[in-house]
Amino acid sequence: MIVLRDGRLVLPGGVRRGDLHVRDGRIAANGPPATTPHATETPRTAETPRTAETPGADEIDLGGRYVVPGFVDMHVHGGAGASYQSGSDEDARRVAGFHLAAGTTTTIASLVTGTGRELADAVAALAGPAADGLIAGIHLEGPYLARERCGAHDPALLRPPDIAEFRHLAGLGRGHVRMITLAPELPGALELVRAAADAGVIAAVGHTEAPGAVARAAFDAGARVATHLFNAMRPLHHREGGPVAAALNDPRVTVEIVNDGVHVEPGVVALAFRAAGPGRVALITDAMAATGMGDGDYRLGVMDVRVRDGRATLAGGSSIAGSTITMADAFRHAVTGVGVPIAQAAEAAALTPARALGIDSRVGSLEPGKDADLLVLDDDLAVARVMKRGRWL
Ligand SMILES: [Zn+2]
Repeated sequence: MIVLRDGRLVLPGGVRRGDLHVRDGRIAANGPPATTPHATETPRTAETPRTAETPGADEIDLGGRYVVPGFVDMHVHGGAGASYQSGSDEDARRVAGFHLAAGTTTTIASLVTGTGRELADAVAALAGPAADGLIAGIHLEGPYLARERCGAHDPALLRPPDIAEFRHLAGLGRGHVRMITLAPELPGALELVRAAADAGVIAAVGHTEAPGAVARAAFDAGARVATHLFNAMRPLHHREGGPVAAALNDPRVTVEIVNDGVHVEPGVVALAFRAAGPGRVALITDAMAATGMGDGDYRLGVMDVRVRDGRATLAGGSSIAGSTITMADAFRHAVTGVGVPIAQAAEAAALTPARALGIDSRVGSLEPGKDADLLVLDDDLAVARVMKRGRWL
């Protein structure tokens, strides 16, 4: 048993000062401080653990520091100099380990557009780390994307939706392909959205030039996520709302936001939070290999990427090529740069993506019964300590 005393617990409904009890890798209770003399609220379990009654309990006094759920990042390509795209087990461990140390306790491995062979090899290789629980699944970002909105994807490798290829990749992933981003205006895209839904894979609308009506048709066909809203999609126009309005207006849809202060301006992030309402914005990093490495020259799939002043762009161009932030940066920027209340920012960094991925019964909030994936923050909201399944890193 581990007892975290006197923290500011960031819960789905708001911040509550109290104790958090961890047992067997799970959250056992969150309640008011045991030392509060006139507490009227009781913990959410029958027991009221006290050190005297729980010999061997490991007690830590947090002195009012914030405790937030471990972050859930549904869109990550790399970090610490490595990429999931390589398909190497060692690289997957390096990327996931780097983001875990920074506070991301649940991560999806995103693959950019590649040849059929390259994607097949990467998906087959990542099924292992996914089965081991190192990553929570695989996200195919492409290859069925719009040429006009290809961003950092190699336009020569983009192709129309191919259901047979998709099913082949999903099969190689042994149930661990969790999401596929596609442009719904391409021929056969809506059939692929339905095939994905049938296979238990979340279809996401992104890298798209679709008008609003086509994006809405994709959501009606079963697509449930908008991939990095605003980026690599037809922009919002007052006479043609495009995928942005279609996604924000649809309560079934979770919208991803790359919250690095570069991809989307803070005022527009604030607007998206307001327009979408509670529980619908998922902060993502879209982090690439350079994350945690500093400026230099890197690769994203087959594309050369240049990082200067932390900003990743395609070599020889101005297209933004993923970010170099961790989810901890995205979370802190939501609070300090955008002005999102801390409980809402934590929801966007953990519970909302967990819900979109269908794993919110296990992770995403500090509620009893869930995995004890949690972070203790410093006064400046930086991550001070990381716990995954009841173990401190
Ligand atoms: Zn991406």
